[in-house]
Amino acid sequence: MTIDVARYRGRFAPSPSGPLHFGSLVAALGSYLQAKSLGGQWLLRIEDIDTTRIQPGADSSIMRTLEQFGLLWDQTETYQTERLAFYQHHFNALQARGLVYGCNCSRARIASLGGVYDGYCQQKNLHTEPLAWRLKPGHVPDQFSDLVFGEVQVPARICQEDYIIKRRDGLFAYQLVVVLDDIDQQIGQVIRGADLLEMTTRQQALCTLLGHSPPQYGHLPLAVTAAGFKLSKQNHATDISTLPLAQSMSAALSLLGHTPPAELQQAPVAELLAWALQHWQLAQVPRQREVQISG
Ligand code: GLU
Repeated sequence: MTIDVARYRGRFAPSPSGPLHFGSLVAALGSYLQAKSLGGQWLLRIEDIDTTRIQPGADSSIMRTLEQFGLLWDQTETYQTERLAFYQHHFNALQARGLVYGCNCSRARIASLGGVYDGYCQQKNLHTEPLAWRLKPGHVPDQFSDLVFGEVQVPARICQEDYIIKRRDGLFAYQLVVVLDDIDQQIGQVIRGADLLEMTTRQQALCTLLGHSPPQYGHLPLAVTAAGFKLSKQNHATDISTLPLAQSMSAALSLLGHTPPAELQQAPVAELLAWALQHWQLAQVPRQREVQISG
């Protein structure tokens, strides 16, 4: 698929479970540079669908930090929690097509299977809630082509598991809503962290099942600590709004294979960003799932 640059849309889709940390700055910056260097739009989607993980105020804190870095999004930001009727409509349509089944297996049962669900409830025709709703099998390819990683082979457990699209607690699953939002917002390329690399095949397949050609996907290296931990809100990665902006932006650009010249490394972020926009090449991003950083 070639990208129609005039209609190019990228997006950054943080979950508001904490302030912007270095790992999410990398994803924000990479997706911004790819969109803007192609003259496209860059949208901001607050992925607050999992309300059990929201930290009050994290959405505005993330937006203020993006603004400090000069990463200004086009259009008004969207919130998944404001789009529940839209998700329900598409969930109902999948259900009406017979592509979904209810499951009441306990966590303990699934854990006893090694964490990968075995399709046990598929023939049971369960309808009494609470139920988790799973997508029927048979549509997820075991490989796909990534803009950064090239051909990616995906393990059977990802392709063959009937994964959940609506949870037992009534919340829509990320796997469903991310695809619906990417379709609805006409996202041409999804540029994001490599923690979602293998899930991409599910998302592409679901997009096709919904009658749309999937966006292209490119995955960026994850920043990990020396001990090998992914930086995330869960392990209390430093809130980068407390660090000098130029230092964080230079480090994020280096991780993306675009180390700014020494004389620019302490420059105002607007200058760093302008330099990055001029030099940005997705092909220069390291084909690495993880890059170790200090601190
Ligand atoms: N909301 C996800 C996160 O914060 C990103 C999802 C995506 O980019 O597809 O990790």
